[in-house]
Amino acid sequence: MDPKTPLSQVTGIGPGLLYKLKRLNLNTVQDLIYHFPFRYDDFSNATSALEAKIGESVTLQGEIWSIQNIYTRSRKIITKAIFNDGTSPIELTWFNSSWLTKQIQTGDRLQVSGKIAKYKSKLSIIAPRWEKLDTEKQLPTRQVGTQSLHTGRLVPIYPETEGLSSKWLRTKIDQLLPQVINQISDPMPDEIRNGMLLLAPAIQQIHFPKDFEQAEKARDRLGFDELFFVSLATQKARLEWSKKPLVEPLKIKLDQLDQFIKKLPFELTSAQQKVLKEILEDLKKNQPMNRLIQGEVGSGKTVVATIIAYLVHKNNLRTLFMAPTEILAFQHFETLSTLLAPFGLTVGIYTGSKKFTRVVIPRERSDHGNLPRTGKIASLIARNDVSLPDIIIGTHALLSEKLSTENVGLVIIDEQQRFGVEQRTLLRGKAKIPHFLTMTATPIPRTVALTLYGDLDMSVIDELPEGRQKVKTYLVPEKKRLDSYKFIAKKVAAGDQVYIITPLIEASETLSTVKAAKVEFEKLKKIFPDLKLDLLHGRMKGTDKEHVIGDFRSGKTNILVSTSVVEVGMDNPNATIIVIEGAERFGLAQLHQLRGRVGRGRKESYCLLYTSNYSSDERRRLKYLETTFDGLRLAELDLKIRGSGQIFGTAQSGRFEFKIANFSNITLLEKTKQAAKDLLIQDPTLDKYPLLRAKLQEIASEVMPD
Ligand code: ADP
Ligand code: MG
Repeated sequence: MDPKTPLSQVTGIGPGLLYKLKRLNLNTVQDLIYHFPFRYDDFSNATSALEAKIGESVTLQGEIWSIQNIYTRSRKIITKAIFNDGTSPIELTWFNSSWLTKQIQTGDRLQVSGKIAKYKSKLSIIAPRWEKLDTEKQLPTRQVGTQSLHTGRLVPIYPETEGLSSKWLRTKIDQLLPQVINQISDPMPDEIRNGMLLLAPAIQQIHFPKDFEQAEKARDRLGFDELFFVSLATQKARLEWSKKPLVEPLKIKLDQLDQFIKKLPFELTSAQQKVLKEILEDLKKNQPMNRLIQGEVGSGKTVVATIIAYLVHKNNLRTLFMAPTEILAFQHFETLSTLLAPFGLTVGIYTGSKKFTRVVIPRERSDHGNLPRTGKIASLIARNDVSLPDIIIGTHALLSEKLSTENVGLVIIDEQQRFGVEQRTLLRGKAKIPHFLTMTATPIPRTVALTLYGDLDMSVIDELPEGRQKVKTYLVPEKKRLDSYKFIAKKVAAGDQVYIITPLIEASETLSTVKAAKVEFEKLKKIFPDLKLDLLHGRMKGTDKEHVIGDFRSGKTNILVSTSVVEVGMDNPNATIIVIEGAERFGLAQLHQLRGRVGRGRKESYCLLYTSNYSSDERRRLKYLETTFDGLRLAELDLKIRGSGQIFGTAQSGRFEFKIANFSNITLLEKTKQAAKDLLIQDPTLDKYPLLRAKLQEIASEVMPD
C-alpha cells in the first residue's frame, strides 16, 4: 500500500462506503490521511465516577451491570445501561440506538467517555463514546488514556457525511496511517520549514495528538504548507505568464477613449476611473495583462470591461467575453450591444444551447442609456461562422467549440468558478496570448487575495454609482414573524415581489431546526393562500429553473421561495423584500450578496433576517448587516469571526482547497508569499527541489497557463 492507493483497494471498503467517501472528496489513502480533524474532544481526563464533577468531560473504565432498550410513549427508543467503574454506579443513556444492545451486553467491560450530568438525581452520561476493553487485560494493567482510540484521549472529530462518522474515519485513519507514514517524504526545504515539524510527524500528530500543544504544532506546519504551496503555485504562474508573448501590443489613443467615455449615458465613478487607469497601465507594458476586477454587483465592472473592449476594437482586435450562465450571457449581450453598437461595433452571442450566433448590427443609439435596448438583430449566422462580431459574448461554449481565436486581443471572464481553467483551455497550444480581464462580485479580503490570487493583479471597484439605495436590514425576532408576513402581504398587494431564502432544499433529520425550501414552500402557500408562490433550488432541471426565473422576472410570481441559488444572476428591480431564514448558516458576505437581490429598482427595499441561533455572539454578527453595506468589509469580518474555513465558498471552490490554513494572520501570509518568491528567484524551475516541483504539479494545474 502507498499513499496513492485508491480507497477502493483497501480491504473493508465496499461500494457503499466508497460512495460516501467520494462525497467527502476522499479517493485515495492520501486523501484520507489528509482529512484532518477540525477539533478534538478532550477525553484525556481519566478519573472515577466518584470523583467526577457534574459538567466535566471524563473517561471511565468499568463493567456493564445491565443494558436495555426502553420504548417511550412517543415511540422513541432510549437505551439505558448501568455502568460501574468500581467507585459508584452511573447511568449511560443513548437515543435512537437500539442496535447498541446487540453490541454491548451485561458483563462487558467498557471504557466510556462523555460529560457527567445529573439526571433525575442520578449521575449519568448522555450518549457517551465507548470502546470495549479486552476482558483478558483487567483494569489495573491497562493504563487509562494510552491505548484506546475513541476514548480516554484527545479524540479527533472530523468533517463527516451521512453514514460516515468520525468514529469510522478515526478507525480507518488509525489503521492506514502506520502503513503509509514512512512513505511520506517532506518536500519542504529545511530553510523554509525553519524549525517546524517534519511532514510525517505533523500528519501523525494532527490525527492523534498526545496533547493540545502537539495538535497545535501539527496545525502550524500543515497550515503553513497549504499557504506556501499555493503561494508558490500562483507566484510561479505569474512568472510564466509575464514571459508569454502578447498577441499584439495595443496602441492606446487616449482621446478616442475619452470620446467613448464622454458618450456613455453616465459619468464614471471615481472607483471606475481608478480601475480603468490601473488597466491602462497594464496595457502599456506590452505584456499580457492578467487582472481581476473585484466589485459588487452593479458597481460597474462590466462597463469598465466594455471600455477596454472598445479600445481593443480600435486596435483591430476582437474580444471574447465569457459569462458563467446563459442568462448572464444574454444580459451582458444586451448591455454591451447597447453601449457598443452606437459606435459601430458588432456584438455576437454564442452559447451552448442556442445553436447559432446572434449578431447585433449597429444602429442609431438609443437615448435610454442603460436600458437593454439592443440594435436590430440582423441575422442568425451559422454556428462556426463567428468571424463577424467584434465582441463575442458566450458561456463555456466559447471554450468547447472551435471558435477562431485569431485576432483576439482581449478575453473577459465574468464570475468564473475556476479562473485558471478557462485560461488554460483558451490558451492551449497558443504561442501568443491576449490580455485577460477577470471580474468577480465575490469580495476577497486582501489577506486571502495575497495567496489565493497571487498570480493575478487586483483592482477593486469599491463604490457604487450614485443613487443606489441601501437595503433596510433587520434581524427579526421570531415573535415578530407574523408581523413580517403581514408586511409582506401589504407590499405584495402594492405590487412588490418577495424572495424567501432558506439554507436547505429538503428537510434534514440531523438539522431539524434548519428551514428547507420545499417544506417552507408548502407552509407559505397556506399562509399566503391568495398569492402566487414559486419554488427554486439548485437541484432543479435547467429548463425548469429558467421557467421559474422567467415567471418571477415577469411579475407572475409574487413570492419566490428559494435556496441561495438566486445569488447569481437574478435581476428583478420589482423585488423589494428578501427574507433570509437560518441566517446563521451563511457568511456575512454571502448574506450581503443575497441582500443585493433587492433594492435594484427605485422602490425602498428590505432584508429581513431570521435565525434560530440566539447566542449573543451570533446576534451581534448578524446585526453587522443592519449597519454595514460594504461587502469587502463584511468579508473581512467573516474572516475575523469565523476564521477562514469554508467561508469563501465560491471564491475558493475549484481553485484550491484549504483545510486548515489561517488567513487572518497577515504577517504569516506575507512571509509565505515572500518565501515562495525568493525560492523562485533562486531556482525558477525548482530543479533543485524535485519533491517540491512534484507537489506543485499536483496542485498547480488550476493556475498554470501552459
Ligand atoms: P457590474 O458588472 O459590476 O455588475 P455593470 O457594469 O453591469 O455592473 O453596471 C450595472 C448597471 O449600472 C448598468 O446598468 C450600468 O449601465 C450602470 N452603471 C455602470 N456604471 C455606472 C455609473 N458610473 N453611473 C451610473 N450607472 C452606471
Ligand atoms: Mg455583473
